[in-house]
Amino acid sequence: MITTEKAFNLIKKNINKNLKISKVTLKNSLGRFLAEDIKSNINIPPQNNSAVDGFAINYSQKKNNSNLNYKIISEINAGDVFKKKIEKNQCVKVSTGSHLPYYLDTVIMLEDIKYINNNFIELPKILSTKKNVRKKGEDIKKGKIIIAKKSILRSQEIGLLASINKLEIKVFKKIKVAIISNGNELVNPGINKKNNQIYDSNRFMLMSLLKIPCINVTDCGILKDDYDKIKEKILKLKNKYDLIVMSGGASVGHKDYVVKIIKKIGKLVFSSLAIKPGRPMSFGILDNEVPILILPGNPVASFVTFNLFGNFLINCMHGLISKQPNFFLVKSNFNMIKKLGREEFLRGKLIRKNNELFVIKYSTEGAGILSSVVWSDGLIKLNSDVNKIKINDYLQFYPYDIFK
Ligand code: AMP
Ligand code: MG
Repeated sequence: MITTEKAFNLIKKNINKNLKISKVTLKNSLGRFLAEDIKSNINIPPQNNSAVDGFAINYSQKKNNSNLNYKIISEINAGDVFKKKIEKNQCVKVSTGSHLPYYLDTVIMLEDIKYINNNFIELPKILSTKKNVRKKGEDIKKGKIIIAKKSILRSQEIGLLASINKLEIKVFKKIKVAIISNGNELVNPGINKKNNQIYDSNRFMLMSLLKIPCINVTDCGILKDDYDKIKEKILKLKNKYDLIVMSGGASVGHKDYVVKIIKKIGKLVFSSLAIKPGRPMSFGILDNEVPILILPGNPVASFVTFNLFGNFLINCMHGLISKQPNFFLVKSNFNMIKKLGREEFLRGKLIRKNNELFVIKYSTEGAGILSSVVWSDGLIKLNSDVNKIKINDYLQFYPYDIFK
């Protein structure tokens, strides 16, 4: 049994697939991974411009001049081109975003001046130079890399790409993922099941977790507990998909075949983790390049282990030096005794008491109780060296959104 830390490292070390590259339009780029460094061919802003509504002056003309009365000689609005010269005690009315010639180097905010009449204003006594002017290229400098290859494109990156007129982008092709469930007892929702059967919930949960822009997920159905059939299916899938995600049959029971099969037909990187829930989680590589994530059948364990490792693995496949999922610290609202030597992931819900965040845990801990996941906002991680939790202890909390 290995720690999650070791598992993250082993996953990272064993991914070596080179994803193909394709092009997408800016409008279709959300959630895709960049396959090129993005450089800007332009400066942003393109010219010095005003950061506020107000009056622009030349600061050097103001030096050693105690006369604070200024004549308004013109107006510049955003989008205008202004070339007129200005003299001592003259100013130009400007609005936010107005492009300024170099000699208009200081802007006084509308709120800081006094109107004398429609043509004259009085400046404040204390004034500093180069105020309220956004400098040419202060956001983006021409020629500089602004988004690095392998980054994921979020809304903010898309805004930045639009601002530099980048309409076609090289991204990595979508990863083709096969999802499959294993177990004699499983049937598809939609049919009348017998009492000895259960509906397959993992496949639907996992498919929905993988409904992200960089993934093409295929439902590959349910496999019976049959060594030869499972082996045959995995051999077929590895030729068609970039990643296989399987749940069930991961453990060491006499009907659990998946790990044995991977040992035979590929490389088993690890099997079983020192965590609760999720101990049977295993990971392998087929043909040296197709990863297979073997998740426990218990739905909570399947959900927890996929959240911990699924997106991490997808990031690694894109070559992203992936960080492990992040957590934040919240105070415990419960007492608990815990077994030493394994990490535990409890289902937690945040509550607020006197403006402070606390976390409560679901009353029961069974790995089959999917209602606990529905009830919760995220996972509470208890480290392996912890054996007791008291109210007010700080705990690591992973909101479900953090795994995305
Ligand atoms: P296994 O990992 O195959 O030993 O399964 C552990 C438990 O999870 C058993 O109670 C299974 O019935 C249940 N299970 C396995 N696969 C699924 C699934 N796809 N959906 C719901 N429960 C499952
Ligand atoms: Mg089974």
